[in-house]
Amino acid sequence: MESLKLKTKLLYLLLSVALGLLAVGFVGYFNLHSMKRNVDTLYFGSMVPLTELSSINIAYHHELESNVYRWRDKALTDEDFARNITFGLTNIDQLWASYRSHHTRPEEVPYIAYTDGRIDVMKRYFEDIRTLAAQHTKASSVSILTLSDNITSIHNTIAQLISYEIAVAKYERSITMNHYEDSLMQLAVLLSIILLGIMTFAWRIFAQIELQQQQLVDSTQALQHLNTKLEQASYTDTLTGIFNRRYFNLVYEREFKRASRSEKPITFIMVDIDYFKPYNDTYGHLQGDIALQNVARILKTSLARPGDFAFRLGGEEFGIILTDTDAASARQTAERLRFNVESLNMEHKGNKNTGIVTISLGAICVTPTMSMNNETLLHTADTNLYAAKERGRNQVVFTTTL
Ligand code: GH3
Ligand code: MG
Ligand code: MG
Repeated sequence: MESLKLKTKLLYLLLSVALGLLAVGFVGYFNLHSMKRNVDTLYFGSMVPLTELSSINIAYHHELESNVYRWRDKALTDEDFARNITFGLTNIDQLWASYRSHHTRPEEVPYIAYTDGRIDVMKRYFEDIRTLAAQHTKASSVSILTLSDNITSIHNTIAQLISYEIAVAKYERSITMNHYEDSLMQLAVLLSIILLGIMTFAWRIFAQIELQQQQLVDSTQALQHLNTKLEQASYTDTLTGIFNRRYFNLVYEREFKRASRSEKPITFIMVDIDYFKPYNDTYGHLQGDIALQNVARILKTSLARPGDFAFRLGGEEFGIILTDTDAASARQTAERLRFNVESLNMEHKGNKNTGIVTISLGAICVTPTMSMNNETLLHTADTNLYAAKERGRNQVVFTTTL
């Protein structure tokens, strides 16, 4: 369930990243598009008209005015002069027509109309001179006194238009610049919002991952703890609290093999409470259980070394395993167990020998060989226990050979 939530959140994160990038792309695209339009306006709306107007002025000076002076100074034939004038006027006509074809702002209409009239006047002026040339009128007899004034006047008129176009170009440029800054700001704001959103999302996801990890660690620990308890429970006899038969099987096999490998002695002692059936009959089953608990406790606490184990094998029978213990010590330990139970001094009227609870022990201590069957050891202990019972109980029968 939690992981599902996490997956959904991750999906949302990826979706928001994708949407964010898409938004940035769209905004970027539209801004670039409008910037392109602005640049276009700057170029075709201001730069090209400017060039055309400058070219008209140059044409007036270089193609018309200077030709008149050259004709006057006889540097040109009448025909060449007429041709040059025609060429200059056509050029100016074309440049002016091209300039007029561009977008015209309402506020410049009157001034363009005025310039148009001025260009027309200049055209007629130069056409008149050309007609005179065609009639081979002497250049010196043609009045060119007004030429300079006329050229200056048209020059100024067009220069005025040029200044106007420059002013418009500056204005367009400032619009483009503002637009550029606006676009940058828009992108920055958009990116900040997206980044903030992604960071918030990511932070929440990581917080959840961390929480889940902690939960996992906690539940793993709880599980380990439970496992340990379960393991302990499965190895523990519920009535007496000492190890049970299941654990005995495990330990016995393990320790027998270890002793065989390391050629060290191993001792197995079989313990059985004397006349326990009469005990139950006399004191009741519940009291019998208490007696079993007492004997188990004595057996366990009488074993001091970490390699010594006490088990309840079933009923009122117990098993003791002593590892790494020589025969003399093992015999002493078995005797101590018997003595300690006897010292409990628990009343047992049914025990006709002593009147108290006692145990009989059948013990065997050997250094096993690899070929030895571990069942033999158990069997010998059992035989020794039987012998102890036979010999009068409350005693140890201890052997060192199988
Ligand atoms: P012996 O000296 O020859 O061992 O005589 P015994 O009466 O002890 O004979 P045996 O070992 O065969 O008797 C076992 C008795 O132990 C039978 C049963 O009443 C008793 N017993 C076995 N398990 C329990 C138990 O869990 N609780 C109680 N209270 N008694 C048990
Ligand atoms: Mg028994
Ligand atoms: Mg018994």
